[in-house]
Amino acid sequence: MAGMNAKRIEILGVPVDCVTMQDAVATAEQMIAGERPAGYIMAVNPEKVVSASSDPAILGQLRSAALLIPDGIGIVIAARLFGLAHLSRVPGAELMPRLCEMAARRGYPVFLYGAKPEIIQEAASALQRDFSGLRIAGTQHGYVTAEEMSALVERINASGAKLLFVALGSPRQENWMARHFSQLTTICVCQGVGGTFDVLSGRIARAPRFFQILGLEWFYRFIKQPTRLPREINRFRFGFRVLRRWLAALFTRLRVTNTK
Ligand code: UDP
Repeated sequence: MAGMNAKRIEILGVPVDCVTMQDAVATAEQMIAGERPAGYIMAVNPEKVVSASSDPAILGQLRSAALLIPDGIGIVIAARLFGLAHLSRVPGAELMPRLCEMAARRGYPVFLYGAKPEIIQEAASALQRDFSGLRIAGTQHGYVTAEEMSALVERINASGAKLLFVALGSPRQENWMARHFSQLTTICVCQGVGGTFDVLSGRIARAPRFFQILGLEWFYRFIKQPTRLPREINRFRFGFRVLRRWLAALFTRLRVTNTK
């Protein structure tokens, strides 16, 4: 069955699962049906690979995920260059609506946590409009204090939700999932979705289709918001490391061929 035991590869020491969008949805369905252990879904992109390579805590969180989706085009390119896999992108922002579609179809309640108070309401309305019958068991904005956290966990548990989407940005949402997932009693699938609620609310537009197709959404965001440059640095660092690793492998191969 699709989604069963996908191969897990490593890009610069950071794990990624070789799944398609369809596999990812099937895996989530199996988690909810109890055919697989409950767990969390994290997106792997170039920035996370770079931060995980210098922060064992982040690497540990990624390793503990039930599913690691190849979110960024950089991951797809690196997997291809290293001869590890022919992946296609599974953007977290696209997986979330697919999971909501599945949840609506099967009657699984969902809980939304993250983003600003007005945004989360608009995102919830947009989802209910797009997926008729979707049961939103609860919502919570993303500015909960440490003191309020146990009340939030109780509220999620009391809601009976099966899926939880956490939109706190990275690495906040990964920290939250790694820390609190074990306290969630009814959640089978928890996905970290970054700024997806902002996009769903309609307040932040995704890049035009042209940029999406070329995998250049990051570039579009960068030209719209140059203050993101410090965040983009890790993306360039990733490109540089991938290239260096690839060239090293190429030279090794050439040397081997020449000495034969
Ligand atoms: N966010 C949140 N709680 C916080 C910080 C951020 O819910 O304490 C939300 C924010 O409103 C936005 C999303 O997390 O919806 C992504 O935020 P940001 O753009 O700062 O994160 P990044 O894109 O850098 O991961």
